[in-house]
Amino acid sequence: MTKNNFWETKTPAQYTDDEWEAVCTRCGQCCRLKLEDEDNGDIFYTDVVCRYFNHENCHCTCYRERCVKVPSCLKLNPYNIGELAWIPETCAYRILHETGTLPPWHPLRTGQPLPEQYSARGKVVSETEVAEDELEDHIIEDGND
Ligand code: SF4
Ligand code: SF4
Repeated sequence: MTKNNFWETKTPAQYTDDEWEAVCTRCGQCCRLKLEDEDNGDIFYTDVVCRYFNHENCHCTCYRERCVKVPSCLKLNPYNIGELAWIPETCAYRILHETGTLPPWHPLRTGQPLPEQYSARGKVVSETEVAEDELEDHIIEDGND
């Protein structure tokens, strides 16, 4: 269980494991496949999503084993969040790191589900349906398309 407004009284390093997990909105944006420009390191998000993504609820179908099954799937923590340039701009962890608080639309603040505009649900296709050499055709302008 999480205590109310813990994000206003603690730093992320002081969160319990449950509190850290509660920051994740399960938006699914980080599960999109990304392409990197080898020349300048720019990251491009696509509308293609990891094969383990649950399209109904945006949850991971292999959460406990995710870093084993998908080596590029990193476990976020209070110490690496600021070093990962590819994290979506609407990721609650990224916003917490950059602003020191949660965004006004965060379910912990509103008590409401995540607004659809921030979710990947209904906006992505599984990587099992897209050939690797077609991935470039799936680049989107930002993580909310
Ligand atoms: S393994 Fe799970 S958490 Fe990681 S990218 Fe795939 S669906 Fe997302
Ligand atoms: S982008 Fe951030 S908030 Fe959204 S599912 Fe990934 S870790 Fe959670």
